[in-house]
Amino acid sequence: MTERVVFDDLELGEIAIELDDQEPQEVIRWGLETFGERVAVVTSFQVDGMVVLDMAYRIRPDVRVITVDTGRLPAATYEFIEQVRAHYPEARFEVFFPDYRDVEQMVNAHGLNLFYKSVPLRLLCCHVRKVRPLLRALADLDAWFTGLRRDQWASRAAIRKVELDHDHNAIVKINPLADWTKEEVWEYVRAHNVPTNPLYEQGYTSIGCDPCTRPIRPGEDDRAGRWWWETNAPKECGIHCPIETGGFEHEVHAILGEGHNGHH
Ligand code: SF4
Repeated sequence: MTERVVFDDLELGEIAIELDDQEPQEVIRWGLETFGERVAVVTSFQVDGMVVLDMAYRIRPDVRVITVDTGRLPAATYEFIEQVRAHYPEARFEVFFPDYRDVEQMVNAHGLNLFYKSVPLRLLCCHVRKVRPLLRALADLDAWFTGLRRDQWASRAAIRKVELDHDHNAIVKINPLADWTKEEVWEYVRAHNVPTNPLYEQGYTSIGCDPCTRPIRPGEDDRAGRWWWETNAPKECGIHCPIETGGFEHEVHAILGEGHNGHH
């Protein structure tokens, strides 16, 4: 196994200042050179992640690409992922799945479509199907590339191009598109023939699990189509904000009844 590459806040803070006005490709190049095998593009193949993947592939074709299959993705997304694999034949794709024991326990206790019943059950489902598999993936990385942008959502307004990810073992989170706009992303897609999920053409602006995503109506916020039945709940699943820690984790254990079957 290659040696871990670890930064502290001070070192990374200095690098962040240097990289903050660099082009996304330069930020990606820094990430690939610094972390080698220990960095991956982590993506659900939405348009921003596709741009990061495309840029990384042009620098290093055998880049690692990690995704989580929640088991509830739209059929169109599965087909699209196959298309992406064919488009980037040298990239190394790794798919992480939820723990079947967690899924069985959750579904047997609360039903298959538990997410519609309450916000805590929706967060539980996201936790079991997305956050935990992601944590497993990140546990073996020193850095990850995301497609986050500052203008996507208020909770993302302060992200840096590189930052220490204190929610995930203090590995380095690299957000090369932090200062890009949605328009710049789509311009890149057109200029470089990047494949995009066909659901965008049907009015989707943010694409996640099938039962939890719908197209938006004119004038609605881009993320309004996620968990649209909820009011006043964060439009996040816990991957990019720390709802998986502390009290919530405790609640998850309680809901899943963990500790009784000894598998965690
Ligand atoms: S988006 Fe919906 S189906 Fe997907 S993990 Fe979250 S609650 Fe479950």
